[in-house]
Amino acid sequence: MAVHIMDEASRCLQCKKPRCREGCPINTNIPEMIRLFREDQMMAAAQMLFANNPLSVVCSLVCDHEKQCEGHCVRGIKESPVHISAIENYISDSCFERLKHDQQPKNGMKVAVIGSGPAGITIALVLALRGYSITVFETRDKIGGILRYGIPDFRLPHSVIDRYYEKMKSLGILFRPNFAVGGSVSIQDLLNDGYKSVFIGTGAWRPRRLNIPGETFGNVQYAINYLNNPDVYDLGEKVAIIGSGNAAMDVARTAIRQGAKEVTVYVRGSSVSASPDEYEYAKLDGVQFELNQTAIEIKDEGPVICDTRKNEDGKTELLKDTARLVQANSVIIAVSQVPQDKLVNRDKELHLNEKGNLETNERGETTMEGVFASGDVVTGARTVVSAVRYSKEIANDMEDYMRAKAGLPPIDRSAEASSDKA
Ligand code: SF4
Repeated sequence: MAVHIMDEASRCLQCKKPRCREGCPINTNIPEMIRLFREDQMMAAAQMLFANNPLSVVCSLVCDHEKQCEGHCVRGIKESPVHISAIENYISDSCFERLKHDQQPKNGMKVAVIGSGPAGITIALVLALRGYSITVFETRDKIGGILRYGIPDFRLPHSVIDRYYEKMKSLGILFRPNFAVGGSVSIQDLLNDGYKSVFIGTGAWRPRRLNIPGETFGNVQYAINYLNNPDVYDLGEKVAIIGSGNAAMDVARTAIRQGAKEVTVYVRGSSVSASPDEYEYAKLDGVQFELNQTAIEIKDEGPVICDTRKNEDGKTELLKDTARLVQANSVIIAVSQVPQDKLVNRDKELHLNEKGNLETNERGETTMEGVFASGDVVTGARTVVSAVRYSKEIANDMEDYMRAKAGLPPIDRSAEASSDKA
């Protein structure tokens, strides 16, 4: 493994204008990471990676590298790109426990973080390192949110998230598992108790419906529910999946690992929306794909599928006369998720936008003063790396807000911003 990683690192051309970095949503300094690694300074590379992206270990496993860093690597024009994700994973994973954190002394300000998915973990880590006292509220018994309950273990081992939990505890972060803010305790209660600001990173867990007849039947499941705990489902041998994003690939590959013999993904358009890597892995695992087809009804025996085509306006049209029943023991609907609105119902000052996402301004502040949000609860279901990227910015906004409230001068972040560009 090490030899292979070294070989890959040695292929990097150390470009002056690194296209790989331009393709990285969180602007990871990839040539610098590789330079340090090649010069036997792996810990320094790991420190740099963590400072830029606290979820580097996770992103090295679950990002869409083909579209992002590796898809932009100049080596990829004539041959295969540098295997950046493998190098990043090797560095971040092997150094994670040994990272030295320059944690600032406690500043006496408490922050509540609701939800422990990628956004919540990022905010908690960033602000804990800056001296804030963090309490994380999580409705489940373990942290991770979508990382644990929405991405299968074979793509992101749960042990990685357990290691984050240990890291967070070592930084003094407190946890309230099995506790839903929005039930007996409201956000206002947290503010009344002296939390200087509250972060909402509760993700998007409400399945988006297809709105077709039969969606409530016992042979139908939603992707996010299935991925939550696949062991409790008995899907049978023949499974039909409606939708073609990464969640659909995760469902299909999990179903095969759980014993399904025939798994077919029905794709509304002419190409899948999952990342090319995930699509290839799904095919490798034996998943079948039917393009330009969608379900218009679900019966006890399986979905009623009809062909689709693009009309002149570019809209997808259903060819209803092609409708036919496809035999399947189970149907899984995987067409994205929207946030739950429990918190909004409890704290009326919070508003949702027309898409059902939590409304925030450009600084991540919700319609309730001192309450910030980012991640899927604001954007709808997106990628892990985009949740981390925005959460880093929101952490700054929260800090600026709390310091202003406490009568402290703002932090000068100009040095940070210029080193980001370096
Ligand atoms: Fe190295 Fe490829 Fe990035 Fe150039 S684009 S610095 S070769 S990883």
